[in-house]
Amino acid sequence: MLQYLIILLDDSSTSYCHYNSQSANQLIGLSDLAEGIKFAMKENLMIQFVYPDFDLPTEYKKLIETIDHSKIMPSTSPLIDCADIIIFNNWKELVGITPYSKATCVLRITKEDLFTQKELVKQSISKFSRLNIVITDIESFSEADLLEYKSVISTLGEEIERLYSWGQSPQTNVITDRISLTRMNNCNAGYNNITLAPDGSFYVCPAFYYSCEEDKAAFCIGNLQTGLKIKAANLYKLPYAPLCRNCDAYQCKRCVWINRRMTYDITTPSREQCVLAHIERNESRRVLEAIRKEKTFYPEQDIPEIGYLDPYEVRVDWHKM
Ligand code: SF4
Repeated sequence: MLQYLIILLDDSSTSYCHYNSQSANQLIGLSDLAEGIKFAMKENLMIQFVYPDFDLPTEYKKLIETIDHSKIMPSTSPLIDCADIIIFNNWKELVGITPYSKATCVLRITKEDLFTQKELVKQSISKFSRLNIVITDIESFSEADLLEYKSVISTLGEEIERLYSWGQSPQTNVITDRISLTRMNNCNAGYNNITLAPDGSFYVCPAFYYSCEEDKAAFCIGNLQTGLKIKAANLYKLPYAPLCRNCDAYQCKRCVWINRRMTYDITTPSREQCVLAHIERNESRRVLEAIRKEKTFYPEQDIPEIGYLDPYEVRVDWHKM
């Protein structure tokens, strides 16, 4: 069921996920913004506004405040004190940062930077109530990189374990989400959220708006004049994703944009996406069991041991089920 409308306020609105946005400015038209808000009200959708790194004209700010919403802003925004979700587009922005206790923070980082800056990332976990880590070049992971990622995730897992033993309860998507989840909690773009872009059209997610012309057209799902038309809408739903519907890496983003880029099929994930998610899943299992040795911790949760990192390797077994 559709629940969220993401509105990109400008072409240069920050990315909050795997894709990169543009640097050129082009604000959404004021009338399109008003229409987008009206659409969300009629459809009973919660709006998430995605901000660029500059201040907005007063009439835009007034209009935004006419509806319930959340604000996603880059850490460089002059309006940062109003942010609900803060995006760090570079690890350097984390150096010496004052702890933000209330906002959720997202660190967008390349694999090389994550590998070289893992101590900084580890130390940053305790500075936020929630730190999401999003890798911006998943498609470039080699087998050696996957091993290195396992080492990074293990370092972060040990930090989570240490903080919990001190009575803190930090959250990070790559470890603690799977500990608390009992079913899939993926991005669900095209199913429970859609995006309104500055061109007045709807897209499955922001990433497709910034894609090549072919994908931009293929994943444009209507506009403010003609309304929403999601082609092959079922394909965005979990039951229509044969590998994912049998998977228990519940924290995985299950990114349909990465699927499209790497396998050309929005329902089929790449090995890289699956192995990263399973490395996180397995570390969540280890952390859960380690904390349980000291205290009662998610007593109902059960993350079974598994012998694979890529669900594709066991697809035959599922086929027989
Ligand atoms: S790990 Fe792979 S199979 Fe599992 S939900 Fe993620 S993309 Fe789908």
